[in-house]
Amino acid sequence: MRSGIAEMIKHALLQGPSQFNRIQHWDKDDFCQTEAIKEAFLFKKSIVMQDEHDQQIRQTLNLGHTIGHAIESASLLSTQALLHGEAVMLGLIYELMLSHLMFDLPLQNIEQLLWMKQRIFPGLHRIFTFDELIPFIKQDKKNNTNIQMSLLKQVGLGVWQQAVTDTQVQTAINMTEQLLIKTY
Ligand SMILES: [Zn+2]
Repeated sequence: MRSGIAEMIKHALLQGPSQFNRIQHWDKDDFCQTEAIKEAFLFKKSIVMQDEHDQQIRQTLNLGHTIGHAIESASLLSTQALLHGEAVMLGLIYELMLSHLMFDLPLQNIEQLLWMKQRIFPGLHRIFTFDELIPFIKQDKKNNTNIQMSLLKQVGLGVWQQAVTDTQVQTAINMTEQLLIKTY
């Protein structure tokens, strides 16, 4: 259930401000309504149908997943492995910070996401360092030599195949850490 909710939050970020604002104060039960699940399904379907071969717009659905997968893998080395959705929830926060650094995505959007994390994933108090994550980020199947990621230019405007440097990733991870510490 929590894995599904993380993907639904990702969808809302890609759909636009009205959808993102609409789900802002939803609790777990709101996300689990049949209507809400159906909408999320239809949104994903519309993206997949535009790009069956996963070459372009469908890659926006990877938002939160490059760092999210790295977090998921790094957590397997710790005493408490995370669920996919927990890792993606954190991955979205880290990747929105990177989007802030690269495209001036408003910090307010990251704060909104943090509140959602607090409400829907209340026990999820984990921090991952650049050194823990970078080997997995580089191992991600979408990355050959350069790090390429799907990011968010603004809520409702996902971009894909964005080249990012190690330094940019490191800065985003450090800034996110500062923000997360305040809420733990
Ligand atoms: Zn996922």
